[in-house]
Amino acid sequence: MARENYFDNAATTRLDDRVLEEMLPYLREDFGNAHSIHQWGKHAEAAVALARERVASLLNAEDPSQVFFTSGATEANNWFLGSTAPGLISPFEHSSVREPALRFGWGLLPNEEYELLSPASPPSALSIMAVNNEVGTIFHCQNDAILHRDLTQALGKIPVEVENLDFASMSAHKLYGPKGIGALFAKVRPPEAILVGGDQENGARAGTLAVPLIVGFGAACVIAEQEMEADSKLAFELRSIVLEELNGLSDWTVNGGANVSPFILSLSFDGLEGETLVIELDRAGFGISSGAACSSRSSEPSHVLTAVGLPKERLRGTVRISFGRWNTHVSSAHLARNLRRTAEKLRTMT
Ligand code: PMP
Repeated sequence: MARENYFDNAATTRLDDRVLEEMLPYLREDFGNAHSIHQWGKHAEAAVALARERVASLLNAEDPSQVFFTSGATEANNWFLGSTAPGLISPFEHSSVREPALRFGWGLLPNEEYELLSPASPPSALSIMAVNNEVGTIFHCQNDAILHRDLTQALGKIPVEVENLDFASMSAHKLYGPKGIGALFAKVRPPEAILVGGDQENGARAGTLAVPLIVGFGAACVIAEQEMEADSKLAFELRSIVLEELNGLSDWTVNGGANVSPFILSLSFDGLEGETLVIELDRAGFGISSGAACSSRSSEPSHVLTAVGLPKERLRGTVRISFGRWNTHVSSAHLARNLRRTAEKLRTMT
């Protein structure tokens, strides 16, 4: 499987070899528990402290102590939503925000297509993602309410700023770090702990720290800080290549509205099934997605595309191409050519 043919980077990214190199010692000889007081523990503790500084730096946070490591964005989202008095979330949130929010009594903000509208009465808390994972829409937001932002598809991809928010969630595996590690940023203090039974993370989140994963997260943040500009320039170029190559084809649209992340390209092909396109492209050696990876196995229509008001016929023919560090101009042109030919072939068959 050629790494340049993987176009599902919004689902997860391949671990950067430089990240792996930094992690390896902590999977071997530097195996200490970061809370032990002997030299093995001290060594692990120092590595965690450095990683926390690195994550804080990519976030432009004031202080590393505002970063609380979690198992990923799902946990960070559940933690915030379950421990904060209910407010409103956007109708475009990932299921790891949407489902706990609905369980804990949060409501939905009104919207018109991709635009979020003001609620009838001001909520006490808001949760609004920075970049949508299905269509790439970028949401800007400033508010007097307690503001939580899911930065999962933004961190390391577009500049993020935590100055105007109170809480933020993130996952390392979306920025070439390891899976199973992420963080909740909390400006003043963390929400009430949901994992109790140890005094790790200042009592905010119990459980032995996953030192190798935390080190990997920190290493991924350093690389992202250095390479964000180059990565995003590449994504812009690859996006244009794909769009240009599809030009000759009829009856398709780009989703996401006017303000989208260059890393995510959501396309709808009238009269086709997204899933069929994904399978055909897989046969040709390319990895794309028919929506969010987590929901692409379910037959339920996407709540994001539904909220946007995409007609049902168009909704079914949606695929997501998400670019990453190892895609090339050549592989993107190949992907698009394959996609165009496949769409043409399938259309003649129906
Ligand atoms: N939020 C968004 C916007 C995402 O795209 C994802 C991953 N698909 C998550 C949260 C959850 O991340 P994780 O599975 O790493 O917890």
